[in-house]
Amino acid sequence: RKKAVIIGAGIAGLATAVRLTKLGYAVEVFEANSYPGGKLSEIRIGEYRFDAGPSLFTMPQFVEELFTVADVDISSFFAYDKKEIVCQYFYEDGTRFTAYADQELFAKAAEKSFDVKAQDILDYFNKSKRKYNLTASLFLEKSLHKASTYLSADTIKAILNIGSLDINSTLDAVNRKSFSDPNLIQLFNRFATYNGSSPYKTPGIMSMIPHLEQYFGMFLPKGGMYSITQSIYELAKTLGVRFNFNTVVDRILITNGKATGVAIGSKEVDADVVVSNMDIVPTYKKLLADQKQPDKVLNQARSSSALIFYWGIKKTFESLDLHNIFFSANYKKEFDAIFKDNTVDDDPTVYINITSKYEENDAPKGCENWFVMINVPGNTGQDWDQIIEQSRKNIITKISKILNTDIAPLIEVEELLDPRKIERKTKSYQGSLYGASSNDKFAAFLRHPNFSSTIDDLYFCGGSVHPGGGIPLCLLSAKIVSDLVQS
Ligand code: FAD
Repeated sequence: RKKAVIIGAGIAGLATAVRLTKLGYAVEVFEANSYPGGKLSEIRIGEYRFDAGPSLFTMPQFVEELFTVADVDISSFFAYDKKEIVCQYFYEDGTRFTAYADQELFAKAAEKSFDVKAQDILDYFNKSKRKYNLTASLFLEKSLHKASTYLSADTIKAILNIGSLDINSTLDAVNRKSFSDPNLIQLFNRFATYNGSSPYKTPGIMSMIPHLEQYFGMFLPKGGMYSITQSIYELAKTLGVRFNFNTVVDRILITNGKATGVAIGSKEVDADVVVSNMDIVPTYKKLLADQKQPDKVLNQARSSSALIFYWGIKKTFESLDLHNIFFSANYKKEFDAIFKDNTVDDDPTVYINITSKYEENDAPKGCENWFVMINVPGNTGQDWDQIIEQSRKNIITKISKILNTDIAPLIEVEELLDPRKIERKTKSYQGSLYGASSNDKFAAFLRHPNFSSTIDDLYFCGGSVHPGGGIPLCLLSAKIVSDLVQS
């Protein structure tokens, strides 16, 4: 049997492992950490459980597809519920909005909370759908770097409709054209953060993102987000994938222009195919240090990072749901701080995720597990200890005011994740959440392809390469790698 080695057990590495076993490869995975999942892991503090990273889950069909490909019944591995409420929004001016998954309900509720007609919202969702349908098969499901992609009927259709894709304006400009109420513009601008970008820079085509949530739906896996990686990890083990934890790969071995294995210290492991799930920047700088570096790709600006407080809260709050957003009063100022000034504004938008609302074992009775996150720039050596101390105060003041309850004395247990720690734990360059940012209309073309154009049998998967970051796209990168290996 041919052998494949995968560097990293992040979600894309795990999904690639599953797919390559089904192509007949003997697959061995090397993971630096003691656990699988990379960014998608969990932490436990006392009686509280928290998902460590991702909390928004759309497109569960891409997880299901792995079980279908493997011909294994998913039911004993993975299950999820669709959420009827997508998010609870809180504004500094006292406005509150419950975003329903159902488009009609969303539109009717929006008519009450904002200066907008329900039909305008439905029209916006229809345009989102159209943008998604025109571009998904081109930008997300195939390699952008193979000529065959450009010869398909889908691509030609997308190119003919390029004018309606809003590639030449920003997401903010598209939303301003669609709506007049500043609070509603802010709500739809927020979707830029789904790939770690700024609404004032990212192209208007990103207005397709609401379609994922409002059409395909928002889901919570049973057992929390961590069960996504756990279930794929268990599936891979069932298929015979070999895992080596606490094992750092130091080098990719190249002989005569072909990847032939990896080096772990002085040990060499041979392989017919090598796939790196490590962030593309350290993959080149460390594992391929003596190879030609694709500088243009590696120098792309990075997406934002995050500052997260995991708080065990000794109280329950009826007004909160699974996903909650406390908007900043000045969104532009907040994004300028992140992407221009490389720091954090004093009034950041605060996201609170509370899985114990639906998973009762995630917090003790009468308590809640708050995952409290703000967007911050990547780590370029800022004084994080000072930023963390100041941000913690600002967040507590903001939430306490809007919820009309002093939060500080309710914090029973606490842990922290910052850009430095994300970088240390997952090797993500600068601790960015989604690889390169999409603050540029050419970003999609400047992500590294899923294969090496100079080294045979070397492939790349995960959030820092094509098609981009986030769970669904990472799972698609695994599919593209497996298609390329097969071809
Ligand atoms: P990663 O998770 O980056 O893992 C790479 C793995 O490779 C790590 O385990 C690392 O230890 C290992 N590794 C690296 N180098 C080596 C080496 N040399 N040898 C051995 N092993 C190595 N996405 C969403 O869809 N929804 C969200 O709500 C969301 N929120 C997020 C919030 C946070 C705080 C973070 C951090 C991310 C969030 N994301 C979200 C993004 C999502 O988590 C990532 O896009 C995705 O998990 C990245 O997966 P990956 O396969 O690229 O690998």
